[in-house]
Amino acid sequence: MNTQHDPLAWIDDEIAALKEAGLYTHIRVIDSPQGAWLTIDGRRVLNLCSNNYLGLANHPRLVQAAKEAMDKYGVGPAAVRTIAGTMSLHVELERRLAAFKGVEAAITFQSGFTANLGTIPAIVGREDVIFSDQLNHASIIDGCRLSRAKIIAYPHNDVDALEDLIKEHRGNYRRALVVTDGVFSMDGDIAPLPQLAEVAKRHNCILMVDDAHGEGVLGRGGRGIVDHFGLHGIVDIEVGTLSKAFGVVGGVVAGSKRLVEWLRQRGRPFLFSSAMTVPDVAACLAALDLLEESTELVDRLWENARYFKAEMQALGFDTGQSETPITPVMLGEAPLAQTFSRRLFEEGVFATAIGYPTVPRGAARIRVMPSAAHTKEDLDFALQAFAKVGRELGVIG
Ligand SMILES: *Cc1c(COP(=O)(O)O)cnc(C)c1O
Repeated sequence: MNTQHDPLAWIDDEIAALKEAGLYTHIRVIDSPQGAWLTIDGRRVLNLCSNNYLGLANHPRLVQAAKEAMDKYGVGPAAVRTIAGTMSLHVELERRLAAFKGVEAAITFQSGFTANLGTIPAIVGREDVIFSDQLNHASIIDGCRLSRAKIIAYPHNDVDALEDLIKEHRGNYRRALVVTDGVFSMDGDIAPLPQLAEVAKRHNCILMVDDAHGEGVLGRGGRGIVDHFGLHGIVDIEVGTLSKAFGVVGGVVAGSKRLVEWLRQRGRPFLFSSAMTVPDVAACLAALDLLEESTELVDRLWENARYFKAEMQALGFDTGQSETPITPVMLGEAPLAQTFSRRLFEEGVFATAIGYPTVPRGAARIRVMPSAAHTKEDLDFALQAFAKVGRELGVIG
């Protein structure tokens, strides 16, 4: 081997720079199922950072459904959907998701990420323009780039600025897409979807919302942001994930029969990558059963979120502008957020620090994700730890 030839040596410098800036991501390894409490490094810690909004990731009904389905269908789909990988379970899940969302049809992908990567380039191309909220999720950004359409970012949730940009640019392009997160995952604020729908309609634009953090959280019984605003039939494309509130893994696109038929022909991750596995699909079907039977889990999630947020504010923490259970604890600089997170862990609370590039520089935070799985005692335990560490580090008085 040529010892001079070391073309990846630059990575060492990059990693050192990340560590220097407090932006290096330390990955904790979990030795237990997801739930209110986790085992990490041999210790029981309170879990405040999973997207397991409803506690479904280890729900006995989902686990049982997955086991039964594996006995009947095995484990893997063994091919892409279009060749030999579509099982009756996939078709059943798509039918049930469409009914749950109140739309004509739905199509599943391997994840929310691939749902965005598959959908956007199938809808717009070189001759087209995309108006994208500047805080949209990375998977929307990548989907936009893959489409080769002209991308114009509009100021976050600013409908007037969006309309000005549409007026200026729309005429130069064939099709136009307005795309936004439904719930913004780092701040917990909600896109002004009714106003976006009016602007999209006025200027003949397609409207797409990615409701990853609204699925199972917003709307009647967790039916999502379109249901929350009563915009059935008005939002053209609704993307969702089955990896957050649903507790499993997978992505979904809900809309018209026409849209879904097209994505089966042109959604590249659907055509060129294998589908959700048997236990994934069966567990998602069980999650739908639970959501359709009762609003109990969704109600408990909101109750827990309201309690935690109010108590954190009473302690003097800045919890940002969230309108959803997502509770950002704003800390400013990344090293402080990392120290805060490490001290919380020592106190038995697992809450990861989030810094650039996931959030803007100087807006580092700890993002707390309350769950229906938490008891009031769990939340009080967390509040005590936040109060102790917050005072120790001078974040609160
Ligand atoms: C989490 C998230 C995704 C990715 O979902 P996965 O199913 O985990 O791939 C996509 N979009 C948004 C807005 C998200 O928050």
